[in-house]
Amino acid sequence: MRERFYRILLEQNLKLTRPRKAMIDLLLAKRGWHFQAEDVLNELNEASPGVVSRATVYRTLEMMVASGMLLKTRVHENSYRYELADTEGHHHHLIDVNSGEVIEFSGDKELHRMLKRICTAQGFEESYHVLEVFGTFKKKR
Ligand SMILES: [Zn+2]
Ligand SMILES: [Zn+2]
Repeated sequence: MRERFYRILLEQNLKLTRPRKAMIDLLLAKRGWHFQAEDVLNELNEASPGVVSRATVYRTLEMMVASGMLLKTRVHENSYRYELADTEGHHHHLIDVNSGEVIEFSGDKELHRMLKRICTAQGFEESYHVLEVFGTFKKKR
């Protein structure tokens, strides 16, 4: 994964600067994390204050989305969550539109059989899927 990130930077003629390296290290250490740009900024500032600016974090995240390293999910208007784009080929999200929390759930066989059936019926070959359910958690988690 780390090598993949470094290779992508290289391909885009981007140097492995200290802020970029710090971000990659953080994201790899927190796999499965669904985060906001501000979360990254806070974590990095806690570890070593002043190394990364807000502008750098936002710019780098967008670069990582554009190059396929990160998946960006819209929670509601102007609110997004990022996560590492792993190679598993699918994501299932429950998105709480009040708190902005994004929970990953593992799809069962039935769900995947249904998706396969739909694709087959349409003569469609799936590459990957993202399933997003918007709502609110009834109980505080
Ligand atoms: Zn799935
Ligand atoms: Zn996810």
